[in-house]
Amino acid sequence: MLNGNNNYNCYFLLAKKWLEDLFFPVSCLNCGREGEWLCVSCRSAIDCHKNRFCPVCKRIKDDCSPCESCRDKIILNGLWIVASYDNELIQKIISAIKYEFVEDLSSYLDDLFKNYFGNKNDWQHNAVLVPVPLHRKRFLNRGFNQAQLICQSLNRVFGNEIESGIISRIINSQPQAKLNSADRQNNVRGIFKVNEFKCGLLDREIVLVDDVYTTGATMGECAGILKRAGFKQITALVLARGT
Ligand SMILES: [Zn+2]
Ligand SMILES: [Zn+2]
Repeated sequence: MLNGNNNYNCYFLLAKKWLEDLFFPVSCLNCGREGEWLCVSCRSAIDCHKNRFCPVCKRIKDDCSPCESCRDKIILNGLWIVASYDNELIQKIISAIKYEFVEDLSSYLDDLFKNYFGNKNDWQHNAVLVPVPLHRKRFLNRGFNQAQLICQSLNRVFGNEIESGIISRIINSQPQAKLNSADRQNNVRGIFKVNEFKCGLLDREIVLVDDVYTTGATMGECAGILKRAGFKQITALVLARGT
């Protein structure tokens, strides 16, 4: 059920954004030029990773699956990391979407994905995109789920279906960013649940999508409950790997 305070927050944020757009015109996050969130000349400033890596030991590989000796240390069958978090512009984009509610920025991700994957889109052609869900309360506060926006961009570029309803976040845990690695594991335990899903989905690759991968606790928890529900191939895609 909708909570009055959350509704109020949502309208407040929309009004605040409208006023900001009116008084503080859009300017490029990188160079400050007015008119667009990311001007044409700055769009190429994001270097995508040219290589794929093992998600555990980070060794360069031909694909993004864990190497044989790392396989039992991770639930995910693979992890695509589009850019390095050292790239300041990717950090600015992620935080502008997440903390400043700049939803429009997500349309610039399309070029980023085209660059990163090129002709080497190495997930199954019928893979299904699943955004890591936000708790309903946080969703209503923010007005959107940034992982869903990333999925929408991937859908525009590659056409894969988005299935946001497979999992939901039932516990509104603390933001992971404030916790150390051990506490992050505990903080996400049991926070997701698998909902009913279309039959036939179990045989398809699930690509979990989020903005940042740090310790992998959240992705691991999502992948774990999906595997327990019978899904076999669970990979993940993030914009950057945090430290
Ligand atoms: Zn610029
Ligand atoms: Zn490895």
